[in-house]
Amino acid sequence: MYVPGLLPAPYEYHKFDTILAQIKTVIEHQGCYWHWCPICHPNVTPEPTSPQLRNILRTIQKDKIIREAVKKGGWKLIEIWEHTTKYCNLQFKI
Ligand SMILES: [Zn+2]
Repeated sequence: MYVPGLLPAPYEYHKFDTILAQIKTVIEHQGCYWHWCPICHPNVTPEPTSPQLRNILRTIQKDKIIREAVKKGGWKLIEIWEHTTKYCNLQFKI
């Protein structure tokens, strides 16, 4: 699912994890490693010494553009970081 007209090229068809259009909110579930979480990776910038780290740098840049575009478009972005749910041991009863 993408929000038409919200993001600039080449990210205009970026699929958000969840879109709550009625309250103009998008939700992204971010992996701490691939999105270089500021809590799990404080004060460290990945050096582009490998293709994997170059991918992370591209992801960081993409995330920055998306954050700015969402805010500029009057939407709210909620990022749920992996470390906040990784050790979650909730049990749901049906
Ligand atoms: Zn994290």
